[in-house]
Amino acid sequence: MVIDNTKTLWKCPYCGEEYDNFDDANDCAIDCADVDDPEELVVTKYECAMCHKVFEEYDEAEVCEMKHSNDEDKYWVRFQEIESMKRLEEAANHPNQTKIENYK
Ligand SMILES: [Zn+2]
Ligand SMILES: [Zn+2]
Repeated sequence: MVIDNTKTLWKCPYCGEEYDNFDDANDCAIDCADVDDPEELVVTKYECAMCHKVFEEYDEAEVCEMKHSNDEDKYWVRFQEIESMKRLEEAANHPNQTKIENYK
């Protein structure tokens, strides 16, 4: 008796379809198994508030910000300007603040 096992067949376990290569059978099985849609992963990234470089690690962004404030570089200067502008705006929009245009 001669056993011919030179031919390998791959069978989809779900629909029973036979394929002569693994990838086709695998694709079929994936289709048949009706796998869930790819899961959406929320990747948290950290942005340096000053130069807006994005980092994977919180520490890296923190180090970047620290570097700016140690060097007092242009990013740091700009950041201080924006921050004080924000504070001014907040103060101006404060409900206790009487707006100039009310006196018109
Ligand atoms: Zn199948
Ligand atoms: Zn930075």
